[in-house]
Amino acid sequence: MFNLDHPKLITLAETEGYRDIVDFLEDCALDSLVPAICMAPGCDYTAELEPDQRAGFCELCGRPSMQSSLIIAGLI
Ligand SMILES: [Zn+2]
Repeated sequence: MFNLDHPKLITLAETEGYRDIVDFLEDCALDSLVPAICMAPGCDYTAELEPDQRAGFCELCGRPSMQSSLIIAGLI
């Protein structure tokens, strides 16, 4: 199920300079590395990670809570 209005997804798109979630996802869907964001409350660290990353290490808070934009959106 798609989840295009997840707050973390919106934050991530804005960080990347997009105002439209769909535009953002279309642009990153074909890349080998895609924008990812830390899902931990209070931490909005972003990085470029593998498209299927769902438990990446966050360099800011130290938790394995980095998820790719495609995972958050439910596209893969
Ligand atoms: Zn974090």
